[in-house]
Amino acid sequence: MSDNKTIPYKIYLNENEIPSKWYNVRSDMKNKPAPLVNPGTGQPMGFDDLRPVFCDELIKQELDNDTPYFDIPQEIRDFYKMYRPSPLVRAYCLEEALGTPAKIYYKFEGNNTSGSHKLNSAIAQAYYAKKQGLRGITTETGAGQWGTALSMACAYLGLDLKVFMVKVSYEQKPFRREVMRTYGASVTPSPSMDTKIGKKINAEHPGTTGSLGCAISEAVEVATTNEGYRYVLGSVLNQVLLHQSIIGLETKAALDKYGIVPDMIIGCAGGGSNLGGLIAPFMGEKLRGEKDYRIIAVEPASCPSFTRGKYAYDFCDTGMVCPLAKMYTLGSNFIPSANHAGGLRYHGMSPILSQLYADGFMEARSVEQTSVFEAATQFARTEGILPAPESSHAIRAAIDEALLCKETGEEKTIVFGLTGTGYFDLVAYQKYNDGEMTDYIPTDEDLEKSLALLPNIG
Ligand SMILES: *Cc1c(COP(=O)(O)O)cnc(C)c1O
Repeated sequence: MSDNKTIPYKIYLNENEIPSKWYNVRSDMKNKPAPLVNPGTGQPMGFDDLRPVFCDELIKQELDNDTPYFDIPQEIRDFYKMYRPSPLVRAYCLEEALGTPAKIYYKFEGNNTSGSHKLNSAIAQAYYAKKQGLRGITTETGAGQWGTALSMACAYLGLDLKVFMVKVSYEQKPFRREVMRTYGASVTPSPSMDTKIGKKINAEHPGTTGSLGCAISEAVEVATTNEGYRYVLGSVLNQVLLHQSIIGLETKAALDKYGIVPDMIIGCAGGGSNLGGLIAPFMGEKLRGEKDYRIIAVEPASCPSFTRGKYAYDFCDTGMVCPLAKMYTLGSNFIPSANHAGGLRYHGMSPILSQLYADGFMEARSVEQTSVFEAATQFARTEGILPAPESSHAIRAAIDEALLCKETGEEKTIVFGLTGTGYFDLVAYQKYNDGEMTDYIPTDEDLEKSLALLPNIG
């Protein structure tokens, strides 16, 4: 090792170094992300329009493009202390296995029962719902990480939680379901017969195994038709990126302790919340012209919103009950191929990241799932952690960049987000280990079909 391991394997902050404020990257953006608009009128949605669906304080955060820092309430900071600060790990063992001169660091967010970074926003959203005096909240979950995180947060605060879980996951991931139920959440397979939209979708597509977009519609319907309930979402929204900025702020504080300046920051991108959070303070410096970093979003080739999608207003859900968001999208009807096992299957992307990408402040690339699981396996065997398939997209790109450094001899510093663990994804690992995993890349025709149905707005 060129630096003789003067940098520890794990850089931990002290408990009192957990950031006390979230950073709002929008405050430093010259081109602000486009506003949510009403699908009926095409008009931007303000505070009063969003109140039936979302919690008041969260709407304020959603709409605030200017305030740079938001105080993290003490109750949330106390909860963070149960599993934060998360370690920034120097991947010495992986570097050695690769024989690369690159220095690789990863920020590990999987050290809590939900197994991912989603808890950072779950506790914040549940807290503001509780503070508003609500009885409960509703949400959707796909693979189950978000539902699990939220069930932990709601149990802690004594808040009711109704989760609509995509039917295929409900059936294939019974253990995730039981974790949520153990924390006191009610879990309903979606589409269900409990909502108008669920009944409609079941009638139109008998035997359907559901989708995220459909589960969102059901959760919103239940929130807006039950007194004392609101709907919460685990990714995509501006407020979620704000809460997730804790990841980037901690990362930066840890790097600063040792005077380390990264050359590139890499993250997987589903709806954009972990990446948006990880890069926030670095992007801030870049936007203010203080420093420059390469920032790389990595997405699955089977659900390539950034690399092959269109930057346009689109529906966030299948039932078309949510506001429209301007984002890189594959069309709300796009459903990734059934053989896609690696998560990150949402059709759209965070409006903040979409604007930053459109303005050239970040790069994006797509990777195929067999190569993702190859990287996951190499990482598990060298660094010890069994990574979530989602996180492994970032691992793939980090390894590729490190191998490039090996060719050129450059000692670049790479930081990537390791968003979670893969204990509930062992069916996907089994497929890979049995040599049964295949790659599917949608054709241009597939994409044209779903993009043709984009709403005709701005
Ligand atoms: C949900 C999830 C993601 C993707 O969501 P983003 O909003 O894009 O961060 C990535 N990794 C893990 C482990 C997740 O649970």
